[in-house]
Amino acid sequence: MSLQAPRGTRDILAPDSARLRALVEAFASAAELAGYGQVVSPMFELIEVFRRVGEATDIVSKEMYQFRDPGDRHLALRPELTASLARAFVQHRPTLPWKAWYEGPQFRYEKPQAGRFRQFNQVGAELFGSDDPQADVEVIALAWRFCTGLGLRKLRLAVNSLGDRADREAYLAALAAYFEGRSAELSAQGRETLGRNPLRLLDSKRPEDRAVVASAPVIDDYWSEAAAAHFGAVLAGLEALGIPFERNQRLVRGLDYYRRTAFELASDALDGAQDAVGGGGRYDGLVADLGGPDTPGVGFALGVDRLLLACDAEGVFPAPSGAADVFVVDVTGGGEATLLAEELRRTGVRVQRAFDGRSMKAQMKAADRSGARWALLVGDDELADGVVSLRRMRGHEATASGESIQRQIPRAAVAAEVARLVAGSTGDGSTQ
Ligand code: AMP
Repeated sequence: MSLQAPRGTRDILAPDSARLRALVEAFASAAELAGYGQVVSPMFELIEVFRRVGEATDIVSKEMYQFRDPGDRHLALRPELTASLARAFVQHRPTLPWKAWYEGPQFRYEKPQAGRFRQFNQVGAELFGSDDPQADVEVIALAWRFCTGLGLRKLRLAVNSLGDRADREAYLAALAAYFEGRSAELSAQGRETLGRNPLRLLDSKRPEDRAVVASAPVIDDYWSEAAAAHFGAVLAGLEALGIPFERNQRLVRGLDYYRRTAFELASDALDGAQDAVGGGGRYDGLVADLGGPDTPGVGFALGVDRLLLACDAEGVFPAPSGAADVFVVDVTGGGEATLLAEELRRTGVRVQRAFDGRSMKAQMKAADRSGARWALLVGDDELADGVVSLRRMRGHEATASGESIQRQIPRAAVAAEVARLVAGSTGDGSTQ
């Protein structure tokens, strides 16, 4: 059998790769509008970085790609970026608040299915150094503005507060006691989850577990006054911005480091099992867990692959056109095409050409397929006369200018003429 990409990974070819890049660029603009600067951190870290932040979560305990390097360092491919950014924060101690955005692949050994990969891309942002509820609002608003800016409409924002560390611990104890009392009614997997982390049972999809979860204690009853006030201010801030949200008392998120605000964005255009496009929250204990000074933080990550699936389902954010402006058809051997193509590309014109001395007919067919609006034809006659024939391709005829389908231009004037045409052609009604 021929070699294939590893299970759960994919090659992303053009034009999908151009669409992915466009999405990342859109995120960069949205984040930089709000004063976030990009951080490019390593794709692998000492395994400690992830262990310290979430020993009890599947992502850390079961799904990490870990290895020893030749220097016997125990490393892991990053399963997410918040821990890496917290590590970078501790290492560099930037001035506060530190606002950082990122993008790139993450690695999790999960069961691959539609919208779930072992290597997937995320974009995200983190704000370190403020526990102001307005910081939570800013971060959520960035995620919302970006997603809606892609054209997505069927989005749901769910928010919750997990309280402070002590609130969360008291809640966890109450939950554990409650679930243990009813453990006979849980699914076998549910009982196993209970042993590891009772919080995780709250988002179990199994019907037996759900029935028990329905009357489980709710976090609201365990909030400290300060945590309740903080959450109230976050919700008021979202309302003031007109960002629609729903309160979900069972939203706990997959990692253990969250305190106070937790949120998730889901798309109703996606299949129910994998409808989360992103999530985040506040992680006020994380920097201290990594050995830094006690520093609050709030942020989120969005799944790029899922966002693009949601865009497909809603018919928005198409791939940018990869069409050429010009196709050079050279039937004199191909050297002229090389010269012309290079000359035009130096002026910023998108040029395609054929290779292998193919026939006029075959090259015209390729020109058609390339989506180019113009063909530049070089035949023996043109070469002898020092001209090039410029032809408008079918489907790209001039609308009002009365321009003829084909005309000759002096070879020396080609670059200027094509540049003029390309500059003037945007918005002339021709399909790109
Ligand atoms: P998480 O940090 O697990 O909440 O992930 C944030 C977002 O990344 C999720 O809402 C998904 O959109 C995306 N994501 C997480 N895991 C995967 C995966 N295995 N494949 C594709 N996307 C994922």
